[in-house]
Amino acid sequence: MELIPLGTNGYFPSYGRQTMSFLALAGGRAMLLDAGTGVSRLLEPRLASRLEGFDTLDVILSHYHLDHVVGLSYLPAVWKGSKVRIFGPAPPVAEADPRSALEALFRPPFFVKTMEAWSCEVEIVPVEGEEMDLGGLPVQVRGQSHPGGSMGVRLGDGIAYLTDTSVDFSGLPLAMGVKVLLHEVWWTDEEAEAEGRTAGHSALSAVATFARDARAGRLLVVHHHPKRTQEEIEAIAERAAAIAGIPVSAPEEGVPLTVDG
Ligand SMILES: [Zn+2]
Ligand SMILES: [Zn+2]
Repeated sequence: MELIPLGTNGYFPSYGRQTMSFLALAGGRAMLLDAGTGVSRLLEPRLASRLEGFDTLDVILSHYHLDHVVGLSYLPAVWKGSKVRIFGPAPPVAEADPRSALEALFRPPFFVKTMEAWSCEVEIVPVEGEEMDLGGLPVQVRGQSHPGGSMGVRLGDGIAYLTDTSVDFSGLPLAMGVKVLLHEVWWTDEEAEAEGRTAGHSALSAVATFARDARAGRLLVVHHHPKRTQEEIEAIAERAAAIAGIPVSAPEEGVPLTVDG
């Protein structure tokens, strides 16, 4: 499995970082985890070339906040295949219905065309259960605590993707033994304490402890707060590594990572 980070910020782009999107290539499938402004990187020739030969793009959305979905509107410009399948959380996994949420957003006057009028076929698949099968790749999902709800995702034994959630140790099975855990870190411990907040997003120490307890092969910290400099993000990764006792890094956008399994 190959993982190409396209966008690693939360909320909005800053310091050259785009908002949340990750391209996963596995078993002859092309998948996007979230579709924030990072989708724009698929216009870059070295990344665009990675999509050649694929007919269908599967997009798995964690939820419908703009930093995770606005890049869907870039797909008519960057996706040359014939079909896009969008898997979005539906009740009880999250509160919104994917069809009504996405069809409300991607239509005039907010976007020039409805999704039905895009050059590729668009299928919206509501995710209501805990498991689905993407052409032989087992995918597990789980509802998370976030305003409006969000969905944690596990792709085989390779990748677990947990963002826009408070740290929830009852969700450990979704990440247990995974090769690469992508988990948001929105607050440092000092920020969480100063603001008195632990709901809806995650603080550093809790994420690192979760990664350790999940026995993940490595932790990639993502969904960076836009205010952070690259140096501050690297300091967060270093502190998390000291707690988790496993390799921790902040993935560089546009640089592919190989994931065994
Ligand atoms: Zn977000
Ligand atoms: Zn969110």
